[in-house]
Amino acid sequence: MAASRLSLALLLVLAVAGRAAAQDYDFFYLVLQWPGSYCDTKQSCCYPKSGKPAADFGIHGLWPNRDDGSYPQNCDPNADFDPSKVSDLLSSLRAKWPTLACPSNDGTTFWSHEWEKHGTCAEDIFDEHGYFQAALRLRDQLGVLRALTSAGVNPDGGYYTLAQIKNAISKGTGFEPYVECNTDEAGNSQLYQLYFCVNAAGDSFIDCPVLPNSKPCGNRIEFPAF
Ligand code: 5GP
Ligand code: 5GP
Repeated sequence: MAASRLSLALLLVLAVAGRAAAQDYDFFYLVLQWPGSYCDTKQSCCYPKSGKPAADFGIHGLWPNRDDGSYPQNCDPNADFDPSKVSDLLSSLRAKWPTLACPSNDGTTFWSHEWEKHGTCAEDIFDEHGYFQAALRLRDQLGVLRALTSAGVNPDGGYYTLAQIKNAISKGTGFEPYVECNTDEAGNSQLYQLYFCVNAAGDSFIDCPVLPNSKPCGNRIEFPAF
């Protein structure tokens, strides 16, 4: 009797441990980065082993977030990034989620970091393959660069207002991003990252429940070439 109760308890523990944790977030940020603005800073950058990426917005990450602005991170120490699980996505990841950090590498460091820090907090809906596939699909769905250039906002080192950038993207994609700037070597404010919000199912864009906090861009924003 005692033994069977013990094994029942053990089974229960194993079953719970094997399951992904309950959802501890309300939505996602899909964060895109402009490579020109990552590279022309004081810190500079390194092209990935596969060569200079296309002059287009790349993915930084798909980040689970809560409505109060807080977010979970590093949720599963047992889920190390395994490149073999995304082997069919590697060419898309190289093209659309390129790493620009130094020293030059193939992207594995960046993808591991994003999966382990953020992806593991959405294991209730995504395994590793599903996480990367969802981010790639969402990025493709937006066509952000096309939206900007169609409105005359070009990556040519020119300056634009925050309204010009936001309006161009809203008109072209249907969703208004949060715009984050950094500064180039000369100290000019420039278009660095775009934050879009995605529902908790990870499959459609929504209006953002809360905006990230970073210091404002100012109203003269450079869009550097890459
Ligand atoms: P930073 O301090 O450079 O803005 O952000 C550093 C890192 O913290 C980001 O790359 C990201 O991993 C995480 N992070 C910063 N802000 C947010 C946020 O609002 N939501 C989530 N989910 N992660 C964030
Ligand atoms: P987060 O800010 O998402 O927590 O961290 C980003 C991490 O990924 C940093 O350790 C950064 O060095 C690394 N990383 C590698 N490649 C890139 C890249 O192209 N862009 C950004 N923002 N971080 C990168």
